[in-house]
Amino acid sequence: MRCPSCKNDELTETFTSYFSGFDGVYVIVENVPCRKCEVCGEEFFTLSVMEKLDEIITRLKSIASKIFIVDYKAAA
Ligand SMILES: [Zn+2]
Repeated sequence: MRCPSCKNDELTETFTSYFSGFDGVYVIVENVPCRKCEVCGEEFFTLSVMEKLDEIITRLKSIASKIFIVDYKAAA
């Protein structure tokens, strides 16, 4: 996998926080696995992680009233 922004192919496996704000409900997912480009600093999620994030956020939005902070590993 190469960085879509700068085409560098040295991506590091790491963790980040994902934030989603929508309809007055804010969801923060911590410790999300991602790949980070060492050159331009961009962070990328794999397709399976993006699908899982979508699922977590959809689920939380149906129960969260305002702000929800969740750990990826606990919610996935
Ligand atoms: Zn890059």
